[in-house]
Amino acid sequence: MMKRLRAMREPLKYVQGRDALLQFKKEMGYMGKRWLFICSRSGYKASHEKIEVSFGSSDDYRRYEIFGGISSHSEINKMKKIVTEEHIDAVVGVGGGSAVDTAKATAYYTGRHVIIIPTVAATDAPCTGLSVIYNDDHSFDKYLFYPTNPDAVMVDTKIIANAPVKFLVAGMGDALGTYFEGRASLRTESASLEGTGITRAGMALAKLCYETLRQYGRQALEACRVHAVTPALESIVEANVYLSGVGADNVNCAAPHSFYNGVTALGIKHADHGCCVAFGTLVQLVLEGASKEEFEEVQNFCLEVGLPVTLEELGVTTEDQVKMIAQKACVPGETIHNLAGDVQPIELYDAILQTDAIGKLILGK
Ligand SMILES: [Zn+2]
Repeated sequence: MMKRLRAMREPLKYVQGRDALLQFKKEMGYMGKRWLFICSRSGYKASHEKIEVSFGSSDDYRRYEIFGGISSHSEINKMKKIVTEEHIDAVVGVGGGSAVDTAKATAYYTGRHVIIIPTVAATDAPCTGLSVIYNDDHSFDKYLFYPTNPDAVMVDTKIIANAPVKFLVAGMGDALGTYFEGRASLRTESASLEGTGITRAGMALAKLCYETLRQYGRQALEACRVHAVTPALESIVEANVYLSGVGADNVNCAAPHSFYNGVTALGIKHADHGCCVAFGTLVQLVLEGASKEEFEEVQNFCLEVGLPVTLEELGVTTEDQVKMIAQKACVPGETIHNLAGDVQPIELYDAILQTDAIGKLILGK
C-alpha cells in the first residue's frame, strides 16, 4: 500500500475584527458582483445592515434568503436553483449550523465561491471543508466532504460579543478537544479528518488553540458578558473558529467527539456539542492514563469557564445511560479508534465513571 500523503488545508482567506462586516465588499468583492446570502434568522438580524453598508453605492446584486430549515437535500436544491437562475457569483452562509452547511453544499454543487460568516462562535464548523447533510425527514444522511475549505471566513467580533455567552463557552468546549484529539491521532499515525497524513503545521495550530484557551478563556468570558470586544475576546474567537476548525480538519478527532455521538444517542435535549466535547476530553485523558497534572490543568480550565466536569451537568443520570454512551461511542468508524489500543466499551465506561467521580469530588458533591 502507498504511504499516506501528509497535507494541510484551510480557508483561502480569514478575516476577523470589530465591525468586520462593514468591510465585507472591500474584502470579498474580488469574488464577483452577484451575491446570494443564505442566513439563519438570527444571523440575518445581526449582520444584514452592516453587510448592506459595506456595499455603499455599488450596484452589485444582493439576494438574502432567510433560512429556517436544515441542510437537507430539498433545501440545497432550492438554493441551487436560485444560484443558476439569478447567475450568482458567490454564496454566503450567515449564521450557525444549517445555514452554513447549506451554503457550503450549494456552492460546491454549482461551482461557485463560498464565504462563511459565523454569527456565534459555538462550534468550529465555519472553517472546515465538510457539511452535515440531512434527509428531508430530518434524519442524518451523511457528512459531505469537499475538495477544499471555504474561499473565505469572515467574523465580526462585535456580533460575537453581542451573542449569548453560552455560545462562546460551548465553542471553547469544542476547541478544548482539538489538541488532545490531534495528539492521540498523531501517536497512532491516523489520518486527518480530511483523510491525509497529519502535518506539523496542523499539530502546531491545535497546540496553539489549547494554549490560547488557557491564556484567555476566562477573560474572554467576562468580556462577552458585558458585550466588550477586547484582545482576550478576539483571541478566543480566533481559537474557537479558526484554530479549532483548521486544527480539527488537519489533525482529526478522537474520544471527545465519539463521546458526544454517544450522548446524542440518548436523545437528551440539552446535551450541547461543545459541553460534551469538553467532558469527553477529560474522559480521553483518563483513558490515556494522562498525568495528574495534565488532567487537573484541563479540568481547572473547565471549571474556570463553566464547562461541565460531571455527568449530571450533561443531563446524564443513570448507569444505563452511561452504558449506552460507551456502546455507541465505540462502534466501528468512530474517531475514538484513533486512540492507541483499540478502546472497548467497558474501558470507556470505566473511564467515564472515573472522570465523573473526580468531578464530583472537586465540586464537593
Ligand atoms: Zn466539534
